[in-house]
Amino acid sequence: MNSSNLRRNQLTEVFQQHFGTAPSLWGRAPGRVDLMGSHTDYNLGYVLTLPIGRDTWIAARPRADRTVQLYSLNLEAQASFSLDRIVSDPQQRWGNYLRGVAQVLQAEGFNLVGFDGVIHSTVPMSSGLSSSAALECATATVFEALGSWQLDPVRKAQLCQRAENQFVGVNCGILDQYTSCVGQAGCALLLDCRDLSSRPVKLAEGIAVVICDTKFKRELAGSEYGQRRAQCEAGAQQLGRRALREISLEEFYTREQELSAEVAQRCRFIVEENDRVLKLADALIVGDRATVLSLTTKSFRGAGELYEIGVPAMQSMMAAMLKAPGVIGARQAGAGFGGCMVAFVEREQVEAFAESVRRDYHNATGIQPETYAVEAAAGTGLVAV
Ligand code: ADP
Ligand code: MG
Repeated sequence: MNSSNLRRNQLTEVFQQHFGTAPSLWGRAPGRVDLMGSHTDYNLGYVLTLPIGRDTWIAARPRADRTVQLYSLNLEAQASFSLDRIVSDPQQRWGNYLRGVAQVLQAEGFNLVGFDGVIHSTVPMSSGLSSSAALECATATVFEALGSWQLDPVRKAQLCQRAENQFVGVNCGILDQYTSCVGQAGCALLLDCRDLSSRPVKLAEGIAVVICDTKFKRELAGSEYGQRRAQCEAGAQQLGRRALREISLEEFYTREQELSAEVAQRCRFIVEENDRVLKLADALIVGDRATVLSLTTKSFRGAGELYEIGVPAMQSMMAAMLKAPGVIGARQAGAGFGGCMVAFVEREQVEAFAESVRRDYHNATGIQPETYAVEAAAGTGLVAV
């Protein structure tokens, strides 16, 4: 039996136990990893992003009433709410991701149907691969199927982002939801966060993407994220622009002394990172290994020294990745402060790479990391049964 059938059987069993019947439809949405473009999304810049095979499934069955009843297999927890009175619940914070999506969709005039749902994700939670967006987008997909209407993928991403921003209270950019909604199997996306357009980027055959999870909990990510965002917005405003995206590298270098030292440092990272996104896309298409190494190394250095989103565990992981057989280049992923990192690796050497990284990182930190190759997966939709 393939792993997808196995997962469906297991979830069907859990669904039976909780709701006494079988699910009638399955929504899924992928997590993502940024290949280049840390914190560029809220600066309306570029990101090279990959929808990954790790995803969130919701097994669902419509109900006759206006209730949504949920069970998360990952958390072994229940949550429920009524579509007639959607309020945030601090005791069931995870349920707020689904409540938020329901509230935003309803406010937009979509007809929602209550359902019983079992949630299962292979995206690690709070590790920078965006389990939150996967949960939101899978939820929107279930509501869409149950209500017999359809959203354009970009609009779906925007509404899910709004749910996370306004209902859950996390001021994230569009990257995560966009990737989860618009992603296509087999390619990365070069996303322009200003006009929300994207184009597929197919990586050269021999290059694999390997996630290296530091397993270091991202505790500072929330508060520091808000500060970085505010500093970038202040910098852009002082330079007379709507967003840092609107400043070229050349102009920035001639004007950065107009900014305070710390704000200049933050802005410089973003302006340079934006430029690296476009260059990395070109290098990955043709398989230019030397350029991949140089760009990813600069991205990691900038993240540590200029944007200051590094932690010692990330340094240890970077060292382990760069030493491992088959490595082409490596950098941080997600918001930083721990969580997952990403490496480009020669496809035939993925296993030797992963083994070496696990050994060296464990020796350096005492933490057992996780490493796995990911392939580009399709964006959110129903699981074909
Ligand atoms: P990330 O998106 O990087 O994984 P976030 O902090 O943005 O990290 O989102 C993680 C939160 O999303 C979890 O703490 C939980 O509330 C919610 N979540 C994600 N996946 C699931 C799941 N399978 N079951 C229940 N809650 C989930
Ligand atoms: Mg998230």
